[in-house]
Amino acid sequence: MGYDDKHEHEHEHDHPEYSELSEMDARVRALETLLTEKGLVDQAGLSAVVERYEKEVGPHNGALVVAKAWTDPEYRRWLFEDADAAIESLGHVGRQGEHMVALENTSQRHNMVVCTLCSCYPWPVLGLPPVWYKSPSYRSKVVIDPRGVLADFGVSLPEDTEIKVWDSTAEVRYLVVPMRPEGTSGMSEEQLAELVTRDSMIGTGLIQAPTDTAR
Ligand code: FE
Repeated sequence: MGYDDKHEHEHEHDHPEYSELSEMDARVRALETLLTEKGLVDQAGLSAVVERYEKEVGPHNGALVVAKAWTDPEYRRWLFEDADAAIESLGHVGRQGEHMVALENTSQRHNMVVCTLCSCYPWPVLGLPPVWYKSPSYRSKVVIDPRGVLADFGVSLPEDTEIKVWDSTAEVRYLVVPMRPEGTSGMSEEQLAELVTRDSMIGTGLIQAPTDTAR
C-alpha cells in the first residue's frame, strides 16, 4: 500500500522502514507454491483459512476484550489472571491463540510485544500480523531501542515511564491492554471498542481521546 491510500485507510499505518519482505515470508510463499503445484494442499481450503483471518478475525475482537476490561472490573481481574479463559468467554478462540497473557499498561509501565524469532502473534484477538511486525528491523530494534521504535510510530512517552518488551513464543502470546483515555466515562463498551487500535494492543500505539469530529 502506498501513501496515496492513506485517507481511505486511516488506521492502517505503513512503516516503510519495517516493510521489506522477510526471508521467512519468501520461504513460506515458495513452500506454498510448491505444495499447491504438487497437489499436497488444497488452494481453496487455504484461501478459506486466510480469508477467515483477514475478514472475520481481526483487531476488532481484541478491541472488544479491551473495552470490556475497561468497563467491567471483575472481567479485568479475570483477564490478567487467566487471559485464556477470559478471552475464550467472549468467543475468541482459534489457532495461534494458545496460552494468552494480557499485559496491563499504566502510567508507570508501557508494554510492547515482539516475536524476535519469527512472527508469533495472537491471531484470535488481532487477526493476521501486520507486515512491519514480521520485519527483521522491527524485531531487532524494538529490543535494543524501544523508545526509538515508538518514535518511528509517532509515539512518545514520559521519561519515567518504564517500557517493557515481551518476546512472544510458540507457547505464549501477548495482548496489551492499553490505558483508557480521558473523557470516555459516558461511552458504551461498543463505542469504547471503536477507539481501540491494533497498534495499541501490540504496544506501538496509544489510544487517542475521542474528539468531537470523531464521535
Ligand atoms: Fe514467532
